[in-house]
Amino acid sequence: MSGPVLQALPERLADVRGVDLHMHSRASDGALTPGELIELCLARGLTHVALTDHDTLDGVAEADRACRRLGLRLIAAAELSCQWRGIGIHVVALLPEGASAGFTAGLETLHQARERRSREIAHRLEKIGLDDGVARARLEAGSERPLGRPDFAAALVSAGLVPDRKTAFKRYLGAGKRGDVKMHWPELSTVVGWIRESGGVAVIAHPLRYGMTRRKRDLLFSAFIEAGGEAAELISGYQNPDTTFDLARQLAFHGLYGSLGSDFHYPGGALAPGTISPAPASHVKPIWLHPALASFGGEIRETC
Ligand code: AMP
Ligand code: MN
Ligand code: MN
Ligand code: MN
Repeated sequence: MSGPVLQALPERLADVRGVDLHMHSRASDGALTPGELIELCLARGLTHVALTDHDTLDGVAEADRACRRLGLRLIAAAELSCQWRGIGIHVVALLPEGASAGFTAGLETLHQARERRSREIAHRLEKIGLDDGVARARLEAGSERPLGRPDFAAALVSAGLVPDRKTAFKRYLGAGKRGDVKMHWPELSTVVGWIRESGGVAVIAHPLRYGMTRRKRDLLFSAFIEAGGEAAELISGYQNPDTTFDLARQLAFHGLYGSLGSDFHYPGGALAPGTISPAPASHVKPIWLHPALASFGGEIRETC
């Protein structure tokens, strides 16, 4: 069937429409199945998308089938958990050639790290009155997928220990709180290595959401580039225009490609697929101009 007409993506980030390279499905902590997510992307006028579930590629095959059926362009991807200087960092892996054996083994490592981390989070939450945390989080997840902090947030709400999930993160699970357990994650350079050996592009996810000073972000970008990282998200959901403008200068300074995405998780919230702040005019090169992504961003004659 014929889907949307896929033209080559523009040469400037500021001119782009219809692209969202950071979204979640039920394969991790999103609410929609991959198929439902892609249908919503189509309805919202998106043409080029990436499913970036946490530490898994499990939803990608279904998303790919939906994209082929509906005429959207998909890039295989995942959002990998890692740490740098003791800070939890997320790296989006864009994998135009799919996953290497090393990448797949890396996902297994992350899976095990997530299980060990779940037990540690549960242990730490016992002290504030949450018993059987892993079992409660599993109940909230409603499937056998790997558990994440949002499941523990839901468990805290159900147990009546906090009024809502937002408060759960603010008090117990957010960056630097007792339930923010990072020690099981691999180093930043390790996950970038898995992406590189897959022929993929490593992207620092939401660089403004780590509570870092600009100077610290400079150090993060330098370490990331040294490890083989090549891009960062210039736009993640809604951002303050002044902050975005400054981030664009920082990416341009480091020669990083710029990506963008909503970080959409569930309908009914502030974000939907494709809801992102506009990119400012800048010298940041769009990620789709990276040679590895040429066939993703280029003009497509047949529907994908
Ligand atoms: P995890 O991958 O288990 O470390 O969980 C991280 C996920 O928790 C993020 O991708 C978000 O979906 C969610 N999250 C992180 N911080 C917050 C927050 N402050 N409020 C609500 N959700 C959050
Ligand atoms: Mn998430
Ligand atoms: Mn993230
Ligand atoms: Mn995300």
